[in-house]
Amino acid sequence: MSVKFTILGSGSAGNCAYVETPDARILVDAGFSPLQIRKRLATIGRTPENLSAILITHEHSDHISGLLGLADKFQIPVYCNRETQDATIWTFKTKWASKKNPMLDGLDGTEHLKSKINWQLFTTGAGFEIGDVSIETFSVPHDAQDPVGFLLRTARGNIGFATDLGHTTKLVLDRIRPANVLVLESNHDVKMLQDCPRRAWSLKQRILGRHGHLSNVAAAEAAAQIMSAGLRHLYLAHLSRECNTPEIAEHVMAEQLHHIGATHVRLQLAAQEAPCETLEI
Ligand SMILES: [Zn+2]
Ligand SMILES: [Zn+2]
Repeated sequence: MSVKFTILGSGSAGNCAYVETPDARILVDAGFSPLQIRKRLATIGRTPENLSAILITHEHSDHISGLLGLADKFQIPVYCNRETQDATIWTFKTKWASKKNPMLDGLDGTEHLKSKINWQLFTTGAGFEIGDVSIETFSVPHDAQDPVGFLLRTARGNIGFATDLGHTTKLVLDRIRPANVLVLESNHDVKMLQDCPRRAWSLKQRILGRHGHLSNVAAAEAAAQIMSAGLRHLYLAHLSRECNTPEIAEHVMAEQLHHIGATHVRLQLAAQEAPCETLEI
């Protein structure tokens, strides 16, 4: 029985990926509207109703905006750490929920969100199982409360997620090294970001900082450091719309793979607007 993997979309306007094994149907992040996630799942013949779990990396809206709608309506278990749970609840209460749903105002709103959602809290660094998938969690440096990356171990191979990180740490590299399929952030071209007239200086500092986002060159350096014969599929993800192009991101990584002789790796780019082709491993 194969394992199927589809990046439903990735970028600063939303991130969501789908992993299916014989015993588990898992979303990694839910950063599009519930309707948009439903539409994108429909392109691969799936629906949100029978998801086994939603894993959340961190509370930024491009990772959680569809979470409440999906998890509440279909009682899908949500896996995250406590800091992310608290920050997610706060975000829903302050940014969106109170306008659309007065019931969520005040303390009752917090209790409602805590009790109505099937939260499954993990401690960062600890592992857990969903069906036949073993999930490892690891801390990543990013400006959220307790952001994490994931390594999903399946019978057919390991799928790693490392997006939203300002730099790579030894821990991150060690945890994603066993990946056979890796989703790696390649957010921006440093020069395009520095030259971008529409970005405030403070935002540029945030993105470029140690807790911001990984540049194309930093992603390429990370790839060289974790390269193994087992890494077969590399997806560049979370590309900036204004400060990167798919061509530049692909070129920088392809040069690196060529340079280190990693000709066995299939390089692909995740897009914001449409799902990637489903990978079967
Ligand atoms: Zn983020
Ligand atoms: Zn993000």
